[in-house]
Amino acid sequence: MQGLMQPWPLLCSKVIDHAAIQHPHREIVSRSVEGPIHRTDYRTVRSRSLRLAKRLDREGIGLGDRVATMAWNTWRHLECWYGIVGIGAVYHTLNPRLFPEQIAWIMNDAEDRLLFVDLTFLPIVEAIAPQLASLEKIVVLTDAAHMPESSLANLACYEDWLAEADDDFAWKAFDENTAAGMCYTSGTTGHPKGVVYSHRSNILHSMLAQQPDAMGLSSRDVVLPIVPLFHANGWGLAFTCPMAGAAMVMPGPKMDGASVSEMLVSEKVTFSAAVPTVWLMLLQHLEKHGGALPDLNRVVIGGSACPRAVTQKFQDDYGVQVIHAWGMTEMSPLGTLCTIKPEYAGLEGDALLDLEMKQGHPPFGVEMKVTDDSDADTPWDGRTFGRLKVRGPSVAASYYKGTGAEAFGAEGWFDTGDVAHIDPHGYMQITDRAKDVIKSGGEWISTIDLENLAVGHPDVAEAAVIGLPHPRWDERPLLVIVPKEGRDPGKAEILGFLEGKVASWWMPDDVVFVEAIPHTATGKIQKMALREQFRGYSLPSA
Ligand code: AMP
Repeated sequence: MQGLMQPWPLLCSKVIDHAAIQHPHREIVSRSVEGPIHRTDYRTVRSRSLRLAKRLDREGIGLGDRVATMAWNTWRHLECWYGIVGIGAVYHTLNPRLFPEQIAWIMNDAEDRLLFVDLTFLPIVEAIAPQLASLEKIVVLTDAAHMPESSLANLACYEDWLAEADDDFAWKAFDENTAAGMCYTSGTTGHPKGVVYSHRSNILHSMLAQQPDAMGLSSRDVVLPIVPLFHANGWGLAFTCPMAGAAMVMPGPKMDGASVSEMLVSEKVTFSAAVPTVWLMLLQHLEKHGGALPDLNRVVIGGSACPRAVTQKFQDDYGVQVIHAWGMTEMSPLGTLCTIKPEYAGLEGDALLDLEMKQGHPPFGVEMKVTDDSDADTPWDGRTFGRLKVRGPSVAASYYKGTGAEAFGAEGWFDTGDVAHIDPHGYMQITDRAKDVIKSGGEWISTIDLENLAVGHPDVAEAAVIGLPHPRWDERPLLVIVPKEGRDPGKAEILGFLEGKVASWWMPDDVVFVEAIPHTATGKIQKMALREQFRGYSLPSA
């Protein structure tokens, strides 16, 4: 027997329709690329997205066509997403921090037909334009007054181009499993792999993100999505905020401590989301210049492990709740969030901080398990490490064009490539990327744990741990440290600080001080480059 309920396809256009009807005057405030603060609302964003859809349609763009964006978080980028998905085309976010050759490779692989680009990134496009085989048109996200000179052919000014259409247009209808968005993720080897989100996966992801034990957004929230739309589907916030009716504050090109702090205070932001580096910059700014965060209620921190010192400072000094989160591009991206279940409600002080160092538990819609080398489930004892696997309606079933098939196992389990353990109450903690883990005498050492402890030292700005070959133990840890400006902690001082906080056999065999640690285009520590840099380095214990 079948249910007798309506099919109501889960299409992304329904989200902006809902926001425009139920929350028409909720503000979207952006720091524009041109400079001034810009204000609009959901009703206007919907109207301009309809014009954009109509204009794209006239351009010959339709179902399944890939439309790239290389842009900061602004109201215009949001309009692009909704206009694109509204006709069944596919938004393809490009990370401008990748090497230009990589961007060209990705655009050709995706066969992007049209590109929306911010003024900031036009030089990148000018440099790679001759290589872009499928690209037909470039629309610069600005108005006539700011339109630059350019050697590019088929260039249009966004506001003029958009003005050629009105909003008398209806969203197209199609199956909810139709592709809505694309984002490439870079592995350590081979070409980047394309993740293709569907309308259905985006909607279900936003609904799971909205659960009170996940992001818990409401129409009373003012959300500052610092995480760029080009990082892992913008953590879903372009859909979750309008679905909840939350106001949005878009940081545009400025994510430094001073600019973020200004937006947080002047726009009365209650909720924000970003990687640890951004929060470190904000906290350093506040430490130096003073200031409070009177309206900020909670922040989601993920993308890399959140250092203990960041969580502690936010909570103790500024009264802001930290929700540590883990996810991946392949997961739309939310996987787990560290909100407090009743089982842990009594924790305080260091015990609470210990819990908050975990990446948390999955909301409804994400299943997870950890398996050992023989693919058997490990016990949920909060200690036994293994490979973390996930499945759910917003987890990728394969990559674009079928690359990287080895990650997709039996019964839908996707191998995340992360090493983790799960505790008896279902809280997962990442200990490493599988390829970064250190094996010393057959036992695993968590580089993430060591890094988190090291950045807790008041003189340390950033820390990374890598394994170096060792004649007796196979591998031993080397701690690489970037000191804070003007500080000069010695090796003995750092090791003394770690002493007693980790098992003695986890203690790094050496500490080296560097000016900078290499990062990937998504801000993660580039361990491969670091291992290369220290190839041949001889540990004093070796
Ligand atoms: P991306 O697809 O670029 O978002 O990268 C996903 C990867 O980032 C994950 O597989 C993890 O290795 C890492 N990651 C994300 N969030 C966290 C976190 N909270 N703690 C540790 N690693 C994280």
